[in-house]
Amino acid sequence: MTAQIIDGKAIAEKIRGEIKNEVDELKFKLGRAPGLAVVLVGEDPASQVYVRNKRADCEKVGINSFEYRKPENFPETELLALLNDLNQNQEIDGILVQLPLPEHIDENRVLCAIDVNKDVDGFHPVNMGKLLLGQPLFLPCTPAGVLELLVRSGTRIEGAEVVIVGRSNIVGKPLAMILMQKARNANATVTICHTRTKNLAEHCRRAEILVVAAGQPMTVTGEMVRPGATVIDVGVNRLETGLVGDVDFEAVSQVAGKISPVPGGVGPMTRVMLLKNTIKAASSRLKK
Ligand code: NAP
Repeated sequence: MTAQIIDGKAIAEKIRGEIKNEVDELKFKLGRAPGLAVVLVGEDPASQVYVRNKRADCEKVGINSFEYRKPENFPETELLALLNDLNQNQEIDGILVQLPLPEHIDENRVLCAIDVNKDVDGFHPVNMGKLLLGQPLFLPCTPAGVLELLVRSGTRIEGAEVVIVGRSNIVGKPLAMILMQKARNANATVTICHTRTKNLAEHCRRAEILVVAAGQPMTVTGEMVRPGATVIDVGVNRLETGLVGDVDFEAVSQVAGKISPVPGGVGPMTRVMLLKNTIKAASSRLKK
């Protein structure tokens, strides 16, 4: 058996088209384009690329992007003051602070300083708490992207055995919360695995939906996958041979029913979910 490929690039492109239509409508209703502020502190090369991509993504759909690039030694107090200004700025609907921040800055304090209603990354403790309570405002972009991949590839989540490898605050934990909610496109039975899990393979083999977000190539191999399962590979590992995920793609595609590739799976979905959250933030301002 060869698995069906879940083409994240194509799905993201389709969603981008839907977002573009919504942006056109919002421009009319708001009298301006929706706005996203992206704050980058320091010179981290990967972060520079992510920020550049975010600007390009916004341009494609007609969202105004506002970039704030600050030097490595930018004081935390000034960053907090900048966020306070952005919170008040009526042209800006969403605010994203690119992580990681330099060591002298307290990430938690910074995330807490973003207006909850503009927190399009969904990392503010209030938004995390709302998700936990089943009343999400903004879903964090990567888990939201995984959810869309499952839904749009016709994977049944309701009642499914889901195993997530990885318990980070940005992927594993929020994804578990999303998929176990008492809600449409959820209601799954979720297991989270991590480095202290006994017999990872046994857990993985039970999964009808297996999501791997470990940050280690080859974390999941062919014999760890249940025949016909849907496998979503979140991992991004830069090897000398190129970009790979956390899953042994060749072997697992012989066993799984559906699989998302790396690159071209979760990555493009994460990017488009940020746009979706920005539109949501802009629309909710209309209701106030
Ligand atoms: P992270 O914070 O490093 O967390 C990794 C998690 O995986 C931890 O919970 C860790 O367990 C667990 N883990 C690591 N190796 C394992 C193993 N061999 N067996 C079982 N569990 C294992 O990473 P993250 O931020 O969640 O990111 C995970 C991966 O996804 C990375 O490759 C990252 O680059 C990628 N990513 C991609 C996107 C995208 O848009 N495509 C977005 C975000 C992240 P412990 O908790 O016990 O340490």
